[in-house]
Amino acid sequence: MKRLAVLGSTGSIGVSTLEIVAEHPDRFQIVTLTAGRNLALLEEQIARFSPATVAVPDQDNARRLRERIGDDGPQILFGKAGLIACAVDSPADMVVSAIVGAAGLEPTLAAIEAGKDVALANKETLVIAGELVMSAVAKAGGQLFPVDSEHSAIFQSLEGHRISDVRRLILTASGGPFRNWSLDDLQEVTPQDALAHPNWNMGRKITIDSATMMNKGLEVIEAHWLFDLPVDKIAVHIHPESIVHSMVEYVDGAVMAQLGIPDMKTPIAYALSYPERLPLDLPPLDLCRLGKLHFAAPDSQCFPCLGLAYDAIRRGGTTPAVLNAANELAVDAFLMEQIGFLDIPRIISMVMDQHATVEASGLEPILAADSWARQAAKRVIADLQGASYA
Ligand code: NAD
Ligand code: MG
Repeated sequence: MKRLAVLGSTGSIGVSTLEIVAEHPDRFQIVTLTAGRNLALLEEQIARFSPATVAVPDQDNARRLRERIGDDGPQILFGKAGLIACAVDSPADMVVSAIVGAAGLEPTLAAIEAGKDVALANKETLVIAGELVMSAVAKAGGQLFPVDSEHSAIFQSLEGHRISDVRRLILTASGGPFRNWSLDDLQEVTPQDALAHPNWNMGRKITIDSATMMNKGLEVIEAHWLFDLPVDKIAVHIHPESIVHSMVEYVDGAVMAQLGIPDMKTPIAYALSYPERLPLDLPPLDLCRLGKLHFAAPDSQCFPCLGLAYDAIRRGGTTPAVLNAANELAVDAFLMEQIGFLDIPRIISMVMDQHATVEASGLEPILAADSWARQAAKRVIADLQGASYA
């Protein structure tokens, strides 16, 4: 029986993880859950999985949750300290890192430092602090399993091979809802348009990141750290059907790929049960019905976020943390209709230009760069809106 702590249990990845656990009650036990503000769903999950500990963002939510579930329920922790305690003190064998954004970094790093195995969905953790996180993995002895479908595909395509024999990693990208749109068309995009992803049903932030292609940029950085390869060896192909989840090209020209229908349960389950495979109740991939699969080069003019991510990791140090923070702020501002779709890369680029990169040698300079970038992005957003900022 593997004991699991699921950080971000009420999100898209968290819910899929719990569905897998419900399908395999003989294999997994939920000991810890953490959520943001969706107390109704957290209450349902507590009733269903009986965790010993849960965490919510603040004291007010902790009090409201206690009122909802009564005194017999789990211990309720709150705030950043509560979240970190859930990652570290939980008796879990594996921590599923499924919080969105920079908020996932500290609990994930704490879990790794505590020697836990981590199933990593929160790609921002590796974007912000890849070097720190990978050296913590090496030191503490737990294992890091990718949940992101592309990285799971690469992980699977590397099985039985040597990383020194890799010529290239090829990450596939659906291209999002605006593939083949012109810059003029992109000018008019609304949050509602951008939230309608053609292939994947995901949280709001990653759905916007997919529409701008920043998601693929973050994934290039994630792959760089996970597989210890320079970004020059990491390419991106647009593949609208999202069937080939990514590929590894070897020095002899052989290409290994992992295919499947676009459903996050497959990569999540592989991370939970590696090296075994869990039977899942999913429809089979029917290539004969599909007939054709398509591939194309990304359009760097309409989707500059991908290039910005390559620039950030080449500059190194704290720059990827700045890219990530500016992106988080820009995505929020776009969702609140304060800025246009094409302002997202504009803001990130301006904030990166203003940043004086320093070494990302510890958590402190990284968190300082993150909060500097949030302030800088707010100023740029205010300027774009034509407002004056006191
Ligand atoms: P989501 O928005 O659906 O869920 C996020 C979860 O984190 C929720 O439980 C939310 O309550 C919690 N949360 C948000 N902010 C928090 C905070 N400040 N403190 C504590 N908890 C907080 O997001 P998602 O789509 O499930 O994505 C989660 C992570 O997985 C992201 O990093 C995303 O990039 C990655 N990912 C998601 C998918 C997908 O299919 N959804 C695929 C690959 C990778
Ligand atoms: Mg992905």
